[in-house]
Amino acid sequence: MCHKVRDGRCINIWDDPWVPKEPDFRPKLKAGVATNILLVAKLIHHESRQWDREKIFELFESQSAIRILNIHIPAFPKCDTLCWGLSPSGEFTVKSAFMLKMQQSSTSLGSMHEEHWKMLWKSKMHERLKLLLWRIVCKCLLVREILSKRFPIPNISCPVCGEEAETVEHVFIRCPITVQAWANSIWPLNMNVFKDMNIDQWIKIIINPLEKLKIQGKEAREFSLFVAVLYDQVWKNRNQTMWGNQPVDSIKLSIQINKVFSQHKQAWLSILGNKENSPSWKPPPLGWIKCNFDAAMKPNKVVLAVVCRDSNGSIVAADSQEDCLGEPLWAESKAALLAASLARKEGFARVVIEGDA
Ligand SMILES: [Zn+2]
Repeated sequence: MCHKVRDGRCINIWDDPWVPKEPDFRPKLKAGVATNILLVAKLIHHESRQWDREKIFELFESQSAIRILNIHIPAFPKCDTLCWGLSPSGEFTVKSAFMLKMQQSSTSLGSMHEEHWKMLWKSKMHERLKLLLWRIVCKCLLVREILSKRFPIPNISCPVCGEEAETVEHVFIRCPITVQAWANSIWPLNMNVFKDMNIDQWIKIIINPLEKLKIQGKEAREFSLFVAVLYDQVWKNRNQTMWGNQPVDSIKLSIQINKVFSQHKQAWLSILGNKENSPSWKPPPLGWIKCNFDAAMKPNKVVLAVVCRDSNGSIVAADSQEDCLGEPLWAESKAALLAASLARKEGFARVVIEGDA
């Protein structure tokens, strides 16, 4: 949990967790700086309800200072409260709790690092497929070898082929039906090359196939989706076998994998297509002014810009401003504020304010 700053009178700068994204939610004091300031309230201009930027940059390391400045101070002072510090909104989310769990248990996840998890969560595939890959790596998919550690089971061999113990590596890398499904696929990999890999090493390659398989860009995204579909079907087939059905032969399985992959790919392309077809800029209605704002991040500063156009698309006003470096969200907010100020200064009666178009 993290303190949510309202008036800062109940938060100790050094002892209480209060700065989102900082390690332990505590800001870092600049080397060589001594101070006797204790309360967060001392960092706020209470009349304007703004952070004291000068004091903050004087006291803290720049990364900490920027994170402090990103904390919103409400217009009217209230008592400080507690919130969930791992999501931008301060509200508890399953994803943020998951990321925390990942950080805490990174040693039990072999060579999978946070960057791989981020790539997985951002990938264009159904949430159920992402969850399957996560369960495979975390060893929470109940293959017989894992089950046998909790319950006595007479037989831990693979229910599909019976050739060796059913581990996640066997099911998803070495089981003959999986090897055959790969060989029949549009990426006909010879899985024997990877047979000695741990599952986390292998899933890492699937999530980021550029390094080992030299698959990149759009093809890499399709590859990751294909593997997730393949594993989903392999696991489904394994479960049906457990329930007493005959395992399907590898040809039928490959046909089914290709069919489901096409459906997922189609759904994904239609979403991308809709995004690409959306118009980039539309003029405002007659009698209205549209103010478009944007913030450009430079090495040592941000440049804020606003362009105002009427319903014909003609420019009627524009402004730009430089500010000290901050995070993108903060910079975009400052640009929006500049747009609102310009509209007010120009006396526009009906205004649409819009981010970069
Ligand atoms: Zn098998």
